[in-house]
Formats: sequence, C-alpha cells, structure tokens
Amino acid sequence: MGGVIDLRSDTVTKPSAAMRRAMAEAEVGDDVYGEDPTVARLQEEAAAAVGFPAALFVPTGTMGNEIAVQLLARRGTEAIVDADSHIYNYELAAMAAGAGVLPRVLRGTRGAPDADEVEIECRPKPYYDAPVSLLLLENTHNHAGGTVLPQSRKAALLDAARRHGVRAHLDGARIFNAATALSESAAAVASGFDSVMFCLSKGLGAPVGSMLCASAELIREARVIRKRLGGGMRQAGVIAAAGLVALRENRERLADDHVRAKRLAEALAATRGFRIDPAEVETNMVIVEVDPPERAEAVIEDLKARGVLAGMMGYGRVRFVTHLDVDDAGIERAIRALRARA
Ligand SMILES: *Cc1c(COP(=O)(O)O)cnc(C)c1O
Repeated sequence: MGGVIDLRSDTVTKPSAAMRRAMAEAEVGDDVYGEDPTVARLQEEAAAAVGFPAALFVPTGTMGNEIAVQLLARRGTEAIVDADSHIYNYELAAMAAGAGVLPRVLRGTRGAPDADEVEIECRPKPYYDAPVSLLLLENTHNHAGGTVLPQSRKAALLDAARRHGVRAHLDGARIFNAATALSESAAAVASGFDSVMFCLSKGLGAPVGSMLCASAELIREARVIRKRLGGGMRQAGVIAAAGLVALRENRERLADDHVRAKRLAEALAATRGFRIDPAEVETNMVIVEVDPPERAEAVIEDLKARGVLAGMMGYGRVRFVTHLDVDDAGIERAIRALRARA
C-alpha cells in the first residue's frame, strides 16, 4: 500500500531511526587530525569485517577505487579491467585523469575476465610496451546482474596476476552480498587482494560512505591521497556512526534481499514480454531483457505510473534492485504492476 516502491538501486535507502539516533549521539573530533573516535571505530570494524589490518573511511566508492588505483598502479602503466566494470564505465575515467593509468580492457563472462587472458596480459613486455601493474576485479558485479565471482575463479585470476608481480584490487561495493551468496565470510571473499573497497551506502543502508581496506602501510599512504583529492573530512563521526549501525546490523539480512530478487525474477520469467533466467539471479539484482527491446523505456514509464520505479541498464535491459526499504509486500506490488502492463 501507499508509497512508491523504488527498485532503481540499493543506494536509495533512507537512514533508519537507529542510524539517525546514532548520528545524533555520535562522539566526534577532527578526523583530519585523527581525532574522531567514531571514525576510528568504524575503520577498525570495517577492516576486521573483511579480514584486513586497516581501513580508511571515504565519502564514496568511486574515491575508494581511485585511491586504490593511485596506491597500487604505477603511472604510465596499464590496469586490467573487465569491459563492463564499474571502474571502467561509471567513474568518469578517473584512473586516466587522476592516476595516469591506461585501462587494458578484457571482455569476460559473468563479470570477470578469463584467467588465461589475464596471465598473457601480465607477462613481461619489451620496454617499449606499457606493462600491466594492476588487476581490478568486481564482486558482486553490477552490470552483469549482481553476479558472484566463484572463489576458484578468483584464485585463478589472482594467481595469474601474482605470477608476474601484478597487484590486485577488489571493487567489493557489494562484497557482503557476494559473501552471503557464496556462504563464505567476507574475509574469504576479500582474501588475496592488496586492497578492497566496499560501500556502506548500498545494501547495508547507510546514507553516505565507503571503506578502503588494506595493510596499515598502504592505508597510511591512502590517507595522504584522500586528503589530496579533497576527501579529508572533519567531524565525520556523524556519518561514520550511521556506517557503524549499517555494518553491525544490516549484513545478516542481505539474504532476504536475495530471496526477494529471486521471487521477482521468477515472476518476470513467467510474464509475457520479459526474458530472464531466474537461475542466473544470485544476489539482489534482477536485470531483465524486454521483448521487443525498444519497449524498455515504455515499460519503465508505465511501471512508474503504477508506483514502481526501475532503471535502464543498457539497451532493452531493465534493472530492479532489492534492498532493506522494500519488503515482501513491496515485491508483490511490483509483480502486480508488471503483470498489469504485460
Ligand atoms: C556503487 C558502486 C561503486 C561506487 O559508487 P559511489 O556511488 O561512488 O559510492 C563502485 N563499484 C560498484 C560496482 C558500485 O556498484
């Protein structure tokens, strides 16, 4: 009943009452001077959550990824990216503009490049060819439909890079969704990487913020780069407090989002005008092909008129993302809206 069902993204969640209370009561200090106890606590808990020694609170995932590229890749070298990755498509060429790094684009399957191809790209080259110095992976993979990178594939990819001294960063914006789907700890999902970024502001439900996690030495350097990028925040404990609530309270419940995404995918598979294999929906994203594809925008407009918001994800593809502000009743309402228009 009532309000709009917003399935455009898991970034649309509003801070809960518990988060707002924590924000109001947060102990704060100037974090540029390293004096904000709430930020310090968030950094400790975030690092522990992914099994790394240290972490840095950053305003956005994009900044976290860019800091990682500046930290790990040498200027004038290449970084391997998947053709559909967030870093390559949705971060305004930051790795070129800021880090001086050229993306070496590989077209993979289900969100990751092929390990053999990665190995070939990482091999030593003659001095007049730019070497690869960094491998960038994404788990879960947004554009591929919230897909999960199996641990065995991750191991093969990291092994291919390591063999040639190439470092590796994980864009783990939704690492806890990946861990949930794999029935693994987030630390297991993050293991083997030099650094990992994850978002508090996606499925975990915080209003703002992401974490960059790495060794203590790398994080000391990351702090300098963050300041240079204009990301040194003062009484940031006010937002870190919401991040702590998100990290402590909203990891377990991600499984509910996955069940709801599956339910939506199954309903779409049984509805005329949509093509989707529900078996491929592993986490909280449902990307459906509209048949015929030119109707995709009309589908979104029509759903909107019925109080359900979805997003475009490339030509003829519509994306629905489940999150903590959409319950079972919301999903059923979305399904009714889809059927009414089919
Ligand atoms: C959301 C997201 C990011 C970072 O996004 P910001 O909006 O900058 O916080 C990075 N990678 C992936 C895969 C994402 O989905």
